[in-house]
Amino acid sequence: MLTTRLPLQVEPYRLAAQNERLEGLVALESFERLALDAGVQEGDCRVRLDFGIDTQGRRVIEGWLEAEVQLPCRRCLEPMPVQIESHFLLGVVTDDTLAAELPSTHEPVLVENEQLNLLSVLEDELILSLPQVIYHDETQCGVSRDQLTSGAEAEDSEKPAANPFEVLRTLKGKS
Ligand SMILES: [Zn+2]
Repeated sequence: MLTTRLPLQVEPYRLAAQNERLEGLVALESFERLALDAGVQEGDCRVRLDFGIDTQGRRVIEGWLEAEVQLPCRRCLEPMPVQIESHFLLGVVTDDTLAAELPSTHEPVLVENEQLNLLSVLEDELILSLPQVIYHDETQCGVSRDQLTSGAEAEDSEKPAANPFEVLRTLKGKS
């Protein structure tokens, strides 16, 4: 079982020169912005980072992260477990000009004084990977569809739901 804690501050140039792999856990409670976005989280984020130098001489980090977070269901607002997985490619740069030269496949990470704050990078990745909207399965949700339909909406529910293909056609027509 993987139990190593990942260092939260690393030297990416040294790690890239040595083709290092870092693998370990980061406590989800260390992510403060995630807590603001999604509530306080328990458990760990599993992370693997491969540092290296690509054929263009760029310092790159290929990373994977995996975590189970608790997000509020949009219908009943009760937390539900959501599995997050992300694979990403980072380009280590020292300024914005170099960042702009990176191919679109790479996300720039700014490194100053040879130090990289891993916590912040991983938190960005995790937040980017969160689903926008999540719902329980209808059978497990605290709020049933009937409870949601009230007042004027109840009358509307007599009508058949909009045909999804009709919606698609409309969207296509616009593009
Ligand atoms: Zn729910």
